[in-house]
Amino acid sequence: MQFIDQARITVRGGRGGDGIAAFRREKYVPAGGPSGGDGGHGGHVVLEADGNLQTLLDFKYKRLFAADDGRRGGPNKCTGSSGQDLVIKVPCGTEVRHLKSGILLGDLTQGGEQLVVAFGGRGGLGNAHYLSNRNRAPEKFTEGRDGEEWPVQLELKLLAEVGIIGLPNAGKSTLIAVLSAARPKIADYPFTTLIPNLGVVRRPSGDGTVFADIPGLIAGAAQGAGLGHDFLRHIERTRLLIHLVDAGSEDPAKDLRIVEQELEAYGHGLVDRPRLLVLNKQELVPDDLMPEVIQDLESASGGRPVMTVSAAMGRGLDTMLEAVWSSLGI
Ligand code: GDP
Ligand code: MG
Repeated sequence: MQFIDQARITVRGGRGGDGIAAFRREKYVPAGGPSGGDGGHGGHVVLEADGNLQTLLDFKYKRLFAADDGRRGGPNKCTGSSGQDLVIKVPCGTEVRHLKSGILLGDLTQGGEQLVVAFGGRGGLGNAHYLSNRNRAPEKFTEGRDGEEWPVQLELKLLAEVGIIGLPNAGKSTLIAVLSAARPKIADYPFTTLIPNLGVVRRPSGDGTVFADIPGLIAGAAQGAGLGHDFLRHIERTRLLIHLVDAGSEDPAKDLRIVEQELEAYGHGLVDRPRLLVLNKQELVPDDLMPEVIQDLESASGGRPVMTVSAAMGRGLDTMLEAVWSSLGI
């Protein structure tokens, strides 16, 4: 089971600059020779893996990536300047395919790794190149070539960085939906996924962070029931868990302990994963009772601080997200 994120973009190398026809014009040189310079090369389009990116979010809005053209040649055999390469950052783990043939062009795994996906065109030749014994004053020059252009498909196996755990009905699905919907830019983020509850939240630095609703944690999952092995591996790779507790439940502290015990039983170091304790449905608890509920939860969790939110009413979410970003070190 994998979360696959895809984007299709078109990459275009810069056009090479034209060569030119020119002749030397100097005092006391009656018939100056040909001196037209060559055009500069077009820039390449280069993909570069960047460990700070997690999604292909930015490619949903911009589709064409074109490197700079090379400049025309100048007189006095001056070669035009080359077009700048366009370096596009992609997350580590991005596979790049030629769209039509599906051929794998490269797999960018390590931060800093680069792949040229569209070469710039060659610059044309100036007339200085065509000087020969037969022709002392060639007019001939050539134009720059177009850069390569094609559509490519980017494909990334997404990792959920933040897992939301809690008993059924705690509000995990609601929280994911609200975090995404509150940010309309990402509301229509198209996922290809086998898991319905996955959301991307834009973090302050710009890129997205993937939140996964981990359904009905683990009831029996420690014994391998229900969830596929790949999915469990996915949970293991989350960097932060949000433990969501239903404030409207009979005994929130008991709910908390049930999930904590499941975490213990699951093993794989999950119980040591950093996690935030979040009490959802805060509006269901009268204000004067809230301190007591929080107190109970804190002691049941061995002193973890408790944040209160209402996913349904959109309360406390910004504060919670700030805590998420700071736990992730973003
Ligand atoms: P999940 O099983 O953990 O995914 O929980 P859901 O997101 O499906 O929510 C369970 C129920 O709680 C739904 O009826 C939600 O509408 C409701 N719910 C979720 N968040 C809140 C909240 O902040 N306040 C209230 N009153 N109800 C909520
Ligand atoms: Mg759910």
